[in-house]
Amino acid sequence: MLPKALPALTRLSIPEYAMALAHVASLRSEDPFRKVGAVAIDFDNRVIGTAYNGLAPGYNADTEFWADRDARRKYMLHAEVNLCSLFTRGNVKLVACTTKPCTSCMQMLCAYGVKEVYFGEDYPESEADAIAARYGIPLVKLTDFPQVIPASRDMS
Ligand SMILES: [Zn+2]
Repeated sequence: MLPKALPALTRLSIPEYAMALAHVASLRSEDPFRKVGAVAIDFDNRVIGTAYNGLAPGYNADTEFWADRDARRKYMLHAEVNLCSLFTRGNVKLVACTTKPCTSCMQMLCAYGVKEVYFGEDYPESEADAIAARYGIPLVKLTDFPQVIPASRDMS
């Protein structure tokens, strides 16, 4: 017999599910200034992959590297860039990113044929809204999804 005090179970929508996974992926980012996660979902609602922003795979920066927020920017691979390395054009229906894609990443998502994009935080410098509108891609802010707050910020 089931306990009576079970909380009401609600099923996440696919965009909410993708955003929750993107949030978890962002926790893996090594960038102390901005942690971004991204998730790709295919046309059968399967997760193609997760990604986060960071330095090129296998490169380990010393602590001095992280001291200059601006100097690090050109070396950071955005979560969307890492995500697009996981699939080929036309295989992804939906991408969820914890932060609105920057202009370059929105262009890349268009080039990969992504049909819908969801994001959590705004990114004011981005021209993603104009790009998405031009190509008829819904670019939707979605902030109501389950999020994990880690007890420890040790990212090792
Ligand atoms: Zn970007």
